[in-house]
Amino acid sequence: MKKIFLAALLTGILYSCGSTKALMTADKIPIIATLDLNNVTDDKVKVEIDPGAFSQEAVSFYIPKTVPGTYSTDNYGKYIEDFKALDYDGAELPVSKSDDNIWNISNGTKLDKITYWVNDTYDSESEQEEAVFSPSGTNILAGENFMLNLHGFVGYFDGLKEVPYELTFKKPADLESTTSLTKSIEGADANTETFLASRYFDVIDNPILYAKPNTESFKINDITVTLSVYSPNGTYTAASLKDRMEKMMGAQKGFLGDIDGTKEYNILLYLSQMGETDANGFGALEHHTSTVVVLPEVMEKEALEQAMVDVVSHEFFHIVTPLNVHSEEVQYFDFNNPKMSQHLWMYEGTTEYFANLFQIQQGLIDETEFYERIMEKINNAKSFDDTISFTNMSSNILVEPYKENYANVYEKGALINMALDILLREKSNGEKGVLWLMKELSKKYGNNTPFQDEKLIDEIVAMTYPEVRTFFDTHVIGDTPIDYSNYLAKVGLTMTTGEKQTGYFLDGEVPFIDVDQSNDNAVFIRKGIELSTFYKDLGLQGGDTIISINDIAINLEAIRPIIGQSFGWMPETEIKMVVDRDGEEVAVEGKVGTPMLKYETIVPVEGVTDAHAKLRQAWLKG
Ligand SMILES: [Zn+2]
Repeated sequence: MKKIFLAALLTGILYSCGSTKALMTADKIPIIATLDLNNVTDDKVKVEIDPGAFSQEAVSFYIPKTVPGTYSTDNYGKYIEDFKALDYDGAELPVSKSDDNIWNISNGTKLDKITYWVNDTYDSESEQEEAVFSPSGTNILAGENFMLNLHGFVGYFDGLKEVPYELTFKKPADLESTTSLTKSIEGADANTETFLASRYFDVIDNPILYAKPNTESFKINDITVTLSVYSPNGTYTAASLKDRMEKMMGAQKGFLGDIDGTKEYNILLYLSQMGETDANGFGALEHHTSTVVVLPEVMEKEALEQAMVDVVSHEFFHIVTPLNVHSEEVQYFDFNNPKMSQHLWMYEGTTEYFANLFQIQQGLIDETEFYERIMEKINNAKSFDDTISFTNMSSNILVEPYKENYANVYEKGALINMALDILLREKSNGEKGVLWLMKELSKKYGNNTPFQDEKLIDEIVAMTYPEVRTFFDTHVIGDTPIDYSNYLAKVGLTMTTGEKQTGYFLDGEVPFIDVDQSNDNAVFIRKGIELSTFYKDLGLQGGDTIISINDIAINLEAIRPIIGQSFGWMPETEIKMVVDRDGEEVAVEGKVGTPMLKYETIVPVEGVTDAHAKLRQAWLKG
């Protein structure tokens, strides 16, 4: 298939250059995009898009408003400047704009090519109220680094989304590309590279990272994984991060078993210095055969590796859904007028659930840590509206009030899957769970066969049990919150309140206090969290701003040494504090005591029945 495609493509290219007489029509030949990474001007890159000849006068050119996986409206057209449409003599044709992302050319039959300049998104992230999430954004740093999420650079013509693309990069000789795009051997040298994409979707599904070589490859069964790292201060090398990734992805493959995925997977890791003109949105975005990960370069190695494990495992599991199991809305994604599927509970929820479940199943974490993670999700979900229908939220995720609840797909979305997993295990005597369900669905559908959005749940019910219908109707389509303790009880677990000793200002790594940067780095007691007896016994409340401790005026600088001293405090140590509570000064004093903190936890029920214990084993050990 590939060879045939390449031959056809090259023939097309031969026809497209040369005089106007030999022109093939635009729907028959590839669109040729050229990006000049050598001549960066004011942090902008020049792009030239050369389509075939148009037979109609009205031609529209689009840059995406949104892209799959982001669930947000980002208007990448805002980063395009100096747009020109040129005729075959190089003269400018008139252009009008319908919105940020659409350019209209009225003399289509005369159109030879278009050119424009592209600004990157990382530069302006900190100025924007709703910035593009860095893993789907773009970076232009002349001679150093180019993060090319190509939807920010290359657009498409009306009706030509299914036409192949040929992408040529003029680039500095010492920068190397990492991407899952197919490289063309034609015309390649140290300063030029060309990649081929079968349709516009493939252009945006395959980001490219250009950086000084810092890559490592390893094999997980038959998948070749490449980790490419951009670390501006040279803090991290791909070699130093490889072992943990290899172990983690090996465990993922062990968990997934025979699910058919890709033969190649690229991890593009961008480490940010977090300055005002650098990336500030951390996390990752999934693609079929790669992922872009953005994290802070200052992170300690252990924390960075743990973040990579959690983030990359999530992205890699997207191979199952939505990449292999998805609806028509996803398959025929409309970049400028998207219709959203109802099934974020699955695309993000199942993925996030698997990213935790595989770690216990494959022995990367123990039961206690797994329960802690579940409890954390239950607690995090409380800050979102628990009475929104998840399917309705999903279809409307680009608008309020659904948009502000988006992040709940990683919390409640994962918990929906936990409850469904336990229900399936219960009904099948431990044999079937959500992983089994996803394998069945991916056998039935797969990469290029979408399901019908409104039929998926009926199908899942037909494959499983009537109780699954009730579950979806009540808790996923319906708006009734899930009582998680009912499901935990089925596997012999219960939620209980415990008490533990903490530090005075920190519970492990989680602080009880925070800093208000917009108010001279004032220090305040965090709101909406459970406070320890240290705060409660002194009569302090969440939201109080600390004015002084033992007559020392407090701000971020001043409290640091006091936090250090607090590790040496004895229960009888006396303390005096003045706080600002809603504009009023409140003075408190007393002994610091032994700070105790109530917390909720999931624990095994004592004297649990064999049946419950067996079901728990099936759930956690697969
Ligand atoms: Zn995701």
